[in-house]
Amino acid sequence: MTSIGIVGAGIGGLHLALYLQQHDVPATLYAELTSQQRLAGRLPNTAVHWGPTREREHALGVNHWDEQADDWCVRHVHFYGMFGARTMTFTGMNDVPGIGIDHRIYTSTLLEDFLARGGDVVYGAVMVGDLPALSDRHDLVVVSAGRGSMVELFERRSDGRPFTEPQRFICTGIFDGIAPQQPIGSSINVIPGSGELFQLPFLTFGGRKTALLTEIIPGGQLDELRTVRYEQDPVRFNATVLRMLRTSFPHLAELVDENIFGITRAEDVLQGAITPTARRGYAQLENGKWVMALGDVSLVNDPVLAQGANTASACAFLLGEAILADNLVFDEMWCARAEARMWDYQRAAFEWTNHMLRTPLPGNATKLITTACGNPEVARSFINNYAAPQANWDILASDARTDAYLTRHGGGPVTPPSAGDDRATTASTR
Ligand SMILES: Cc1cc2nc3c(=O)[nH]c(=O)nc-3n(C[C@H](O)[C@H](O)[C@H](O)COP(=O)(O)OP(=O)(O)OC[C@H]3O[C@@H](n4cnc5c(N)ncnc54)[C@H](O)[C@@H]3O)c2cc1C
Repeated sequence: MTSIGIVGAGIGGLHLALYLQQHDVPATLYAELTSQQRLAGRLPNTAVHWGPTREREHALGVNHWDEQADDWCVRHVHFYGMFGARTMTFTGMNDVPGIGIDHRIYTSTLLEDFLARGGDVVYGAVMVGDLPALSDRHDLVVVSAGRGSMVELFERRSDGRPFTEPQRFICTGIFDGIAPQQPIGSSINVIPGSGELFQLPFLTFGGRKTALLTEIIPGGQLDELRTVRYEQDPVRFNATVLRMLRTSFPHLAELVDENIFGITRAEDVLQGAITPTARRGYAQLENGKWVMALGDVSLVNDPVLAQGANTASACAFLLGEAILADNLVFDEMWCARAEARMWDYQRAAFEWTNHMLRTPLPGNATKLITTACGNPEVARSFINNYAAPQANWDILASDARTDAYLTRHGGGPVTPPSAGDDRATTASTR
């Protein structure tokens, strides 16, 4: 019977392993870390799982956090665009709320689920040099080992490096002392030219906390945070975040209880930068066998639009379906077909994310956001389309597409905000 080896037990590898297990396809997970090691580790991300990912979790029977997330979820997304002195806000409601869940807890729980259902797990880091032996042991090897050194196995796409360097410096952490937005949800706070701040209800150690993800454009008004490392000076770090909230995001500063404000634990901070990169979805080993790439191995997105984990999960299911549909032989033809199915999904997430990363923010993106502020239907679909990247990219891929969409949805003529215009504009789909 077909046997699949999966290297890496992040969300991509785990969703594929659980999917195959559910369909009685023997799968071995090669996991670098045990559950205990994950739980003791550093914050790897502050990922939101959108509706379709939650539906896949439900299908896999790993929706353990539904009850906890009922009133601690991304049901509403409160958008604040600070265009000069003018703040434009709208609130969109997700049809299916997203959840922010600590991946140390999430992946260790799913790993235990896989084991409890009889899954085969081999612990320890797999090296590129180990892959030929694994490919002899399994009919197909899937590499899902994240952004580490194994990515080099897969050729970069010719259009897979739109930027030569990271477009944002990322500073994320879990905080005590920040009340959630009401009605319950997250907030996306955008200062064109300076960066973005995401505030997120987050399920983590100790229960319900708040995650803040700051995406910093060097030289902008959030830049001070780029220069402060938590591990070097935690007190200064917390003070810098608080100052940033007061100065740049006063509506969020109002939610802060200064007596308890600060990073929850030393392990709960992540600072760094990512260069968006797309790679081919398969590669040939020296022994002639083919291996597939899944998740961040083949596509690294800046987290500004919360797409990476959701894309890894979507592609795990696409790959699982491809394995069920045809498992005669995993040759180049098979790999090319599976890659095409995944790239179709990945490409929209990649292009849309990179579009929104550009400085200055492209005119059609500004126009869409501006329109959403006065048009609840546009606001609602913009927010819901975080779960459907193809839909937002269909709208933003060209000026003509954006104009056609806005005309059809009653956008009407839009006056882009200008500096010095301090009117507040709001829309709500609550
Ligand atoms: C700050 C931040 C915020 C983010 N927010 C979001 C968000 O809101 N929504 C979203 O969808 N995405 C988000 N992402 C992106 C998301 O975290 C990744 O896209 C996602 O985790 C990728 O999943 P993966 O399974 O491909 O890789 P990973 O999650 O990196 O998992 C890879 C696994 O492979 C293991 N491994 C590594 N090397 C080896 C080896 N040699 N042998 C065996 N195992 C190995 C690792 O230990 C790990 O368990 C965010 C990322 C960051 C950094």
